[in-house]
Amino acid sequence: MAAEELLQEIKRIVREATPFAGAISDINFEGPKVVLYCKKLDPLMENGEVIKELARKIRKRIILRPDPGILTKPEEAEKDIRRLVPAEAGITDVIFSQDVGEVTIEAQKPGIAIGKGGSLLREIMREISWTPRIVRAPPIKSGIVRNIRLSMIQAGAERRDILRKIGRRIHREPKAKGDWIRFTTLGGSREVGRSSFLLQTPESRVIIDCGVNVASENRAFPHLEIPEIRLPELDAVILSHAHLDHCGFIPYLFKYGFEGPVYCTPATRDLAVLLQLDYVDIAEREDRPLPYNKRDINTFLRHCIPLEYGDVTDIAPDIRITFHNAGHILGSSIVHAHIGDGLYNLVYTGDLKFDRTRLFSPAVHMFPRLETLVMDSTYGGAEDIQPFRADAEREFIRIVTETTKRGGKVVVPAFAVGRSQEIMVLLEDFKRKGMLDEIPVYLDGMIWEATAIHTAYPEYLSQELRDRIFRADENPFLSELFERVKGPDQRAQVIDGGPAVIVSTAGMMAGGPVLEYFKTLAPDPLNTLVFVGYQCEGSLGRRIQKGWREVPLRGEKGRVVEAKVNMEIRTVEGFSGHSDRAQLLNFVRRASPKPHRIICVHGDENKCTDLASTLYKLFKVETRAPRNLETIRLH
Ligand SMILES: [Zn+2]
Repeated sequence: MAAEELLQEIKRIVREATPFAGAISDINFEGPKVVLYCKKLDPLMENGEVIKELARKIRKRIILRPDPGILTKPEEAEKDIRRLVPAEAGITDVIFSQDVGEVTIEAQKPGIAIGKGGSLLREIMREISWTPRIVRAPPIKSGIVRNIRLSMIQAGAERRDILRKIGRRIHREPKAKGDWIRFTTLGGSREVGRSSFLLQTPESRVIIDCGVNVASENRAFPHLEIPEIRLPELDAVILSHAHLDHCGFIPYLFKYGFEGPVYCTPATRDLAVLLQLDYVDIAEREDRPLPYNKRDINTFLRHCIPLEYGDVTDIAPDIRITFHNAGHILGSSIVHAHIGDGLYNLVYTGDLKFDRTRLFSPAVHMFPRLETLVMDSTYGGAEDIQPFRADAEREFIRIVTETTKRGGKVVVPAFAVGRSQEIMVLLEDFKRKGMLDEIPVYLDGMIWEATAIHTAYPEYLSQELRDRIFRADENPFLSELFERVKGPDQRAQVIDGGPAVIVSTAGMMAGGPVLEYFKTLAPDPLNTLVFVGYQCEGSLGRRIQKGWREVPLRGEKGRVVEAKVNMEIRTVEGFSGHSDRAQLLNFVRRASPKPHRIICVHGDENKCTDLASTLYKLFKVETRAPRNLETIRLH
């Protein structure tokens, strides 16, 4: 049934259902959902079952929105909200979005503002007719979270139109015949960086991830030049997580004609925007402009449809997706795609951690159905055995203690998202337990903002960490141990100052403030550089790790200068947000149901092929380690 007919059909069903009689003024799409605009909210809200029943009947997710005509004036509505919500909720902001009849209430304790089972929300809605949306006030002030929230609210009318258009496309009448499914590797196969894949049926085309390789100049972007990809006809982009090797090229799609939605978790959306903005800034500063700019990042933001773990969502007439925790970074997802009605199921792990970390629970391994598994192979080689986390942590602390005792500084290049927070929580824990001396920990680069986003979305963190964040006095990220480096002057002071730990971006030393520290601190043998994360082949980090003692650095005015490396170079394995070989095998062993086919991607060539052949021997399933630009017929 075409979108228009579907809307007519829903209208007919709604008219026939007595509780709705006279209550509904309009019905429309909002992305994958159906919105009912109501003149009278009460009778519908009184009886939640009616809505559930209707959702079952039309097999769509339904949201109720007030008809603009019944909204209380914002000034009065705000007074009502502040009267109804108990003071303990700590309201920090109330923002009205006229176009969608939504009021965003930012509170320190959202649970209190929501009330038991949403009771307070319903009461607010009954009183003022606006739809209340409660969001957590980030315990750390975050410019990026605030800007994203504001820009989404300001874009209300534009976003409503975008979502309507997307909704019509999702609910279009399927035209194509046939039931084949193809999977094409556009990047990130037999390599790490620029991950991107095309999932194609006769009816739909979807891109899963669209990243960049920040460490490469000639292999930086995925292969979007193939004839199957016509950006204006693309149905959707699915984003597994916010690292640039998965999201860095998405704004480019919008610049060149894509107008569809990007599905990701809300935390992924915020982190992705943060990292993309930083990527553009660094590129501009280094005078190698990117093929897109900040305006395209904003367009991406406006086309984002946030989904929580477990939300089942139609993204095309024949594709339905669900996100599950991937254990890798904040908001990272495993994508389960259900294709055709009962035809086929694909699970794409994205980057996967199948083990508990200080920040996250292990990845989900149970799926309703599963035929092909596309999996992370970063540490898929036989030799990729990570030490126990506890051992790695003690080793890291030992390096910090040794270096600072001899008067040196410890420089830790770290990804702004993930590894930095892991190191922060670790340092805070040892400090609190009296196992770490009184030394300042400086955070430079995007780490502070990224940390703020972590505290804005604690629901994605492990239970233990979440509990501590909810008690403000125990929030590890707010510890006075940490100091934010605010600019070049303070950076110079840190470099001239006494023993310290400096955690700074970029994680693979491909740019960013870590290079400033490295330039001045590298010649002194008292200092130590500690790698705690993956160093991509060809990156400066990998070269130093391999033992280069003279490395070329971009100096003033783009001139290349040789830096002498006398500082101690250490690598501590075991903090990875990726599974090691044993964890990867374990994931497949425990995956339920058993996949029929496994495609190994996101790893150096020998890792992907090694993992694929091992999985074949162990589990007797078809395995593949495709190169870029290969197409595998799934069905
Ligand atoms: Zn990642």
